[in-house]
Amino acid sequence: MLGFDTLYLKDISDDDLLDIGTSQNRLILTCDKELFRRTIKIEANQVLLQGSDDVENLVHILSKYGIYSVKFHPVNSRCSTCNGTMKRIKPKDTNGLAPTNVLKRHKVFYVCKECGKLYWEGSHITSFRLTVKKLNSKLKERRSGSQSKL
Ligand SMILES: [Zn+2]
Repeated sequence: MLGFDTLYLKDISDDDLLDIGTSQNRLILTCDKELFRRTIKIEANQVLLQGSDDVENLVHILSKYGIYSVKFHPVNSRCSTCNGTMKRIKPKDTNGLAPTNVLKRHKVFYVCKECGKLYWEGSHITSFRLTVKKLNSKLKERRSGSQSKL
């Protein structure tokens, strides 16, 4: 949702995952300590996730790479189904994909350019905006914490 090009591979062998991660120069995120050890051995880009929630893990990942602030805008998001990029569309262009009650209440829609999945500013996005606020607050704390150690 933050626009990072992401693959989520759950039914795949560690060997295949490492091949994809290194050949596509991806950052490998895992909470599997054995897989993490293997990423270090092959000098892949990696982060071991040990946080108790998504925000903690995001703070850990982003601050490791010097990112202390993120912005969220749906048009810059990636599709949660296929990782495709989005485009903003008008209600008349939803081609019957939006339920009637949603079409009546919303004026802005986004569609995945790859798979055509339709998104709108519903409760999920509202809730994610709060998560981003919390994330930025924690990133700011992390930044001031890391600066005071210098
Ligand atoms: Zn998609």
